[in-house]
Parts: sequence; structure tokens; C-alpha cells
Amino acid sequence: MAENRDPYEVLGVSKDASAAEIKKAYRKLSKKYHPDLNKEPGAEEKFKEVNEAYEILSDPQKKAQYDQYGSTGGQQGFGGGAGGFGGFGDFGGGGAGGFEDIFSSFFGGGSSSRSRNAPRQGRDLQYEMTLTFEEAIFGKKTSIEYTRNAVCKTCGGSGAKKGTSVDTCSKCNGTGVIQAARQTPLGRVMTQQECDVCHGKGKIIKEKCTTCGGEGITREKHRVEVNIPAGVEDGNQMRLQGQGEAGENDGPYGDLYIVFNVKPSKTFERDGSEIFFNLPISFVQATLGDEVMVKTVHGDVKMKIPAGTQTGTIFRLRGKGAPKLRSDGNGDQHVTVQVQTPKTLNQKQREALKSFAEASGEKVTGEESFFEKLKKRKKR
Ligand SMILES: [Zn+2]
Ligand SMILES: [Zn+2]
Repeated sequence: MAENRDPYEVLGVSKDASAAEIKKAYRKLSKKYHPDLNKEPGAEEKFKEVNEAYEILSDPQKKAQYDQYGSTGGQQGFGGGAGGFGGFGDFGGGGAGGFEDIFSSFFGGGSSSRSRNAPRQGRDLQYEMTLTFEEAIFGKKTSIEYTRNAVCKTCGGSGAKKGTSVDTCSKCNGTGVIQAARQTPLGRVMTQQECDVCHGKGKIIKEKCTTCGGEGITREKHRVEVNIPAGVEDGNQMRLQGQGEAGENDGPYGDLYIVFNVKPSKTFERDGSEIFFNLPISFVQATLGDEVMVKTVHGDVKMKIPAGTQTGTIFRLRGKGAPKLRSDGNGDQHVTVQVQTPKTLNQKQREALKSFAEASGEKVTGEESFFEKLKKRKKR
């Protein structure tokens, strides 16, 4: 049903549309599809969709949740709103009077508790941080700096010049909206409009703060300490509460999301807390066995290669992987042995191998070496 549709798409607004733009789009569409005005099939469904979309986008919390997760947690999030608009049948015979009631319940009444001047949380911000392979494994303490909207330090967000007061708008009594009656073919319709005196702020600033120009908000360079936990992975996110942008009307700051971009390693591969490493060994080591030093992110580690090890054998170095992000301890390092076939041999090695073949009763023709070719040429 409707809850799966993108509310921005439903209202035909962009993702960064302002609250005023969203409201405007909602008003236009809710009138267009209102079941009392539009008898076309599907209009009622469309009307519900528009209302559900507005339920999300007009509520800063639900909007933030949607922006981040692409949903508001299913029905639960706007169940109440949908219910409130549910009983269309009731309005059917109401005529003009009914119509007026409907609109006042949309724009006034219930939704006024979510008034335009209610505190609203600030926007969340995203910060992309690149980490080396090792930094992601061991974590890191660092600090980052970025520019954000912050509460003006000069006026504390009031927008008024020091020593001057902020008055409540007398035209709208601080609500920021005024009632307006409009004559329509269906009768008189009450609508709410932005107060033209205070422009919806509900407050009148006589002398504006010179730092922020009366906005109460300034752009500021902000530095924050970041303690990256050990074991993060490429694409992981970290939330720093209150490090986003300043809220409106004394609302709380939004959050900062740090997204990690982890550089690959030339030596290791990693999948979660498990680390993979390829170890080339000579065929002599593989045959006779050996003790070798193996690179791990925790430093070199001694590893025993048993006699007769085949290429492709995987050995596990317990606890030598990356830390587990959500529990204690480390993962393991998996060492894949790659037996190398020598590409060039000197005379002595050649002879040793030939006698090895003879001792094994193996008949190997082989290619003539450079020296052997040289010897033959001299004899001629
Ligand atoms: Zn200021
Ligand atoms: Zn006003």
C-alpha cells in the first residue's frame, strides 16, 4: 500500500525541500485529490497517500528517520495520522459546512500541536572518513573539522541584539499563522496563512543581532574528537549525537554520521574479523618442512610448516585477525601456502634435482640448460 511510496515523490518535492515548500505542495495536492472535490477513481487513494507522505515529512523526527532509513518503521510511524483522516464517509453529505470542518482539521486543530514554531531538530550531517587498513583494525583517536549551522554565540539563538528584547508578534499572538476565510464554490473555507508581520516566526526582533542578522544561526567551523573503535569496516557508520546542525526554535542539534572508507592493504585481505594472507614457500620448505615468520597485522608470527605440505594448504593463526567490533577478542589469520616452482636454476641446483629424480626412480628429460648448450657447442 501507500506506506512504501517515497513521500518526496508523492508530494513532488525534492529531498532538500524546505518545510514551507513541503507544506505548500501538500496543500495543493490535498485539495486536488480531496474526495469531496475529486470524484475520479483513485482520488481517495491518492489523497490518503498525500496525507501519509505529509505525516512523515512534516514531522522532523519521522522525516529524519525516513531520510536515513528509507522508512519510518512501517505502519506504526503514521498509523495515528492515517486513522485521523480515515472516516471520509462522514463528510459525504456535509456540503459546505463539512468541507470547512475538514480543512480546519487539516491545517489547524490536530496539527497545530506540531506548530511551525515548535522546536525542530537540526539536520543530520554526513562525513566521509578514509582510514588505512591498519587504522580500521586498531581504531584511532582523531579530530575532524567541518562547517555547520550553529546557534549564534552572540545572541544565543534569539536573533536579537544584546540588551534588546524579542517581542511576541501581536498580529498572530506568537503563533506565526493567521486565519483567513476564502470564498469557494463550495462555501467559505478557513485556511491558515503565514503571518505577514512576523513571517511565521511569531516573534518580532526590534534590533537584529549583527552577528547572525537576526537568524539566530551562524555558519561555524566545528571541531569534534572522534574515537574510532577497533575493527570498523569499509562502509560502517558511526553516529555522533548532537554534532549535526543546529535545530530550529531551540530544537536540539542533529547528528553527525561518519562513514568509513577503508583503503585495501597490499598484503592482507579482510572479511570482518578474519584476515587472509598468502605465503609463498619454496618446494624444499614444503617438502622437508620448516619454521617461518609470517606477517600479521599484529607483527611477525612464527609458523610451522609440516613436511609434505601441499600448495593451497591453509593454516590458521588464532587470534591474529582483526578485533571483533561487537564482541571481545580477535578473529583469525588464514595463511594460504603457495609452493613456488623455481624459475631459474644454477648448474648445481640442476644436478641436485637430476640426482633427486634418479633417486626417486623418475625419468625426467628436462630442457637443456644454458650451460649444457654451451658445453656441447665447445665440444664441436
Ligand atoms: Zn545572533
Ligand atoms: Zn505574526
